[in-house]
Amino acid sequence: MFAVTHFKGKRVAMFGLARSGISCARALALGGAEVLAWDDSEPAVEKARAEGLQVTNLHTVDFKTLSALVLSPGVPLTHPEPHWTVVKARAAGVEVIGDTEVFARAMQGTGARMVAITGTNGKSTTTALIGHVLKAAGLDVDVGGNIGQAVFNLRAPTRERVYVLELSSFQIDLMPGLSPDVGILTNLTPDHLDRHGAMEHYAAVKSRMFTKQRDGQTALVGVDDDWCSGIADHIHGGPDVRRVSVVRALDNGVSAPDGILRDVRDGAVSAEIDLRGMPSLRGRHNWQNACMAYGAARAMGVDAKVIAEAMRSFPGLAHRMQEIGRAGQVAFVNDSKATNADAAEKALASYSNIFWIAGGIAKTGGIEPLSPYFPRVRKAYLIGVAAADFAESLKGKVEFEMCDTLARAVQAAARDAAASDGTEPVVLLSPACASFDQYKNFEVRGDAFAELVARLPGIQMTTEGKS
Ligand code: ADP
Repeated sequence: MFAVTHFKGKRVAMFGLARSGISCARALALGGAEVLAWDDSEPAVEKARAEGLQVTNLHTVDFKTLSALVLSPGVPLTHPEPHWTVVKARAAGVEVIGDTEVFARAMQGTGARMVAITGTNGKSTTTALIGHVLKAAGLDVDVGGNIGQAVFNLRAPTRERVYVLELSSFQIDLMPGLSPDVGILTNLTPDHLDRHGAMEHYAAVKSRMFTKQRDGQTALVGVDDDWCSGIADHIHGGPDVRRVSVVRALDNGVSAPDGILRDVRDGAVSAEIDLRGMPSLRGRHNWQNACMAYGAARAMGVDAKVIAEAMRSFPGLAHRMQEIGRAGQVAFVNDSKATNADAAEKALASYSNIFWIAGGIAKTGGIEPLSPYFPRVRKAYLIGVAAADFAESLKGKVEFEMCDTLARAVQAAARDAAASDGTEPVVLLSPACASFDQYKNFEVRGDAFAELVARLPGIQMTTEGKS
């Protein structure tokens, strides 16, 4: 927590008193702003009051007296319809911004630099990987935003500091001044359309990552989907645009279609990093994340060799294809975050000798879309309410066992994997299901998996178990 003096002596309304809102309100008040904090939820207001924040019913406030409305990214700005505070602010000609915009303004003039990451998938992994690489290179780094810490819980900006910030589209929507030293857009697929209306609008919001970037700054854009490819083509002047592909080799950009990252400018290769075999960067999707992290670290002045070394020691993010332990040649992988078939597909595509634990509460379509990957599955261990449906999909194609609980599934899968003669057997929890039938959320499910694995005979844990 630190003081933000940007709004000193001014009135700022703050709507949405979750974690990020409260810390931003504090920072503004500490810097001499008059902060009028409010929320539609009575418990949220009470909690803020209990934490010593001054709360003011914004229904009673003349918005013309405000300098800004700071909105929590969870509150609708546009879709399905603007929140009542937004309507009032617009009518009064008051700017509507987020805590991340306030933070970016606080960074101005300090010399601190920002690497900002957005996209439909891979944001958290890319953000964590960049944080890891920059730290390994000896830079002074803070990681936060939409991942981990809210920005105002990070340390104060200083000249040498680099902020690696994951930004959701909702946060970008509230950052009119966004101009990161390195801006990253991983990919775009239809998502969150309830909050953004049409795909066109969603893409337009994401593209704002680059619109205010200047000379000397860097834009990294994944060009493997048409939306992002179009966005890359429309960045003119301003930043150094670096395209990223993991489906084709680029003459100008960073690409890794075969798992070997190549940094190419005008046909000349300046660096090559073999990503295959990096334990926490398995799979094509992770190669995309690695290319982004490479581009960001290079733009921050880190040597390619240092980047390669750091990538090798990246521990991965909890619950996302995370190798948590080994017993003999058997690897145990926690992919509890795979709550639908689309996410589980990434894991199934990344290993070839799989003892697969799946089940929970299935999404529409179940595991039918995963059938092209069934030949990689040696046996499936089915748990939770989806087990019977999944068994139907697997019948005659993949051997399976009805295990009901995760405990029984881990025992059975570990036993079979240890006895198998194939190479690199993997016991993979990638449920393709929500967890609510047996666990509070995917994190609790993943932690339970790690605790069960930690109790297996002969196991060497590579993580401490819990996330
Ligand atoms: P986000 O923060 O955008 O939700 P994560 O890094 O947490 O993304 O990854 C969530 C899941 O999305 C992973 O478990 C994996 O299945 C998938 N994923 C990760 N990176 C990518 C990528 N670059 N492209 C497509 N899917 C990805």
